[in-house]
Amino acid sequence: MRCFVFAACLFVLGAGVCPLLSAGEADGTLDIYFIDVEGGAATLIVTPVGESILIDSGYPDYNGRDRDRILDTLKNEAKLDHLDHAVVTHWHLDHYGNHASLASMIPIDEYWDRGIPDALKEDKKFQERIGAYRAATQNKSNKLSAGDVFELDTKGTPLKITVVTASREVIANRGKPNPFADQNEPKPKDESDNASSLGILLEFGDFRFLCCGDLTWNVEAKLVTPNNPLGKIDLFMVTHHGLPFSNNPVFVKAIDPVVAVMCNGPKKGGHPTTIATLRSCPSLKHLYQLHRNVALGADEQTPPKFIANSEPTVNCEGIGVKTTVAANGTSYTVQIGQAGTRNVYTSRSSEH
Ligand SMILES: [Zn+2]
Repeated sequence: MRCFVFAACLFVLGAGVCPLLSAGEADGTLDIYFIDVEGGAATLIVTPVGESILIDSGYPDYNGRDRDRILDTLKNEAKLDHLDHAVVTHWHLDHYGNHASLASMIPIDEYWDRGIPDALKEDKKFQERIGAYRAATQNKSNKLSAGDVFELDTKGTPLKITVVTASREVIANRGKPNPFADQNEPKPKDESDNASSLGILLEFGDFRFLCCGDLTWNVEAKLVTPNNPLGKIDLFMVTHHGLPFSNNPVFVKAIDPVVAVMCNGPKKGGHPTTIATLRSCPSLKHLYQLHRNVALGADEQTPPKFIANSEPTVNCEGIGVKTTVAANGTSYTVQIGQAGTRNVYTSRSSEH
């Protein structure tokens, strides 16, 4: 197991800190912004000392729509002017679409990915497309492997990031037996890069967040059978926008999330099979969707008050979902938009 410590960008403030400080001004909380990129993914994490990690960057094009939403979140919500770390979970355009474009507008200190393949079966133009990323990173992106561990600077509460999957490899299968392991029904092998997605487990004191990009069914099962090395999760970013080639019940039931956030689009993801799997988890309190699935009835998806955007893409304001984890990690809030109602949850490890 390799171990790194991120080079932190520290915002050191004295005692008597204003309680209305935003994340980038080091308020002691850990903030996670699920930015709406219309069915792609872009998740910004800001640590208690203001260190920033962007996981994926949405779709390119659309007049810079997704890039501008990321910049708006970074600058106007998180009050930051740069990114410390930019991560790519896998090589699909709805995940690395704006890394190069962002790099032309703000400083990005470090890039992290699973390694750049020579070719991509499903994308004949991959070598052409990856050129801009290579240029932005100056061919110096850091390759992540399953089992890599990062201990980040904080004001006290330990913050650890573990890479749990990468390039179809998974962390060692330790932990308690997964009681759902014998229910696994393998699907045909997924040859796409989705199966190679980085899976990232973030632990901040008692709080545990899992994000697995677009990881697909069989690798999900590989990760949590026969034993479950992840344990149970507080906040789960629903995998692959809620598509049913991912979110294997053997995996979702094992992690049994309390809160799930689904980065779907109006017509992408948010699949009823995935929603049914999530609803079968006994600990699930609330599912948040970035979008209403326009093809489903109201009772087939989460209630409207947990949906950030109800309009079709053409009219969408791009409202995000934000999680704020208390400085001691024992509780967290989830809200829709900057002014949304804050729902409070207790980190599950703190309940015992
Ligand atoms: Zn995707």
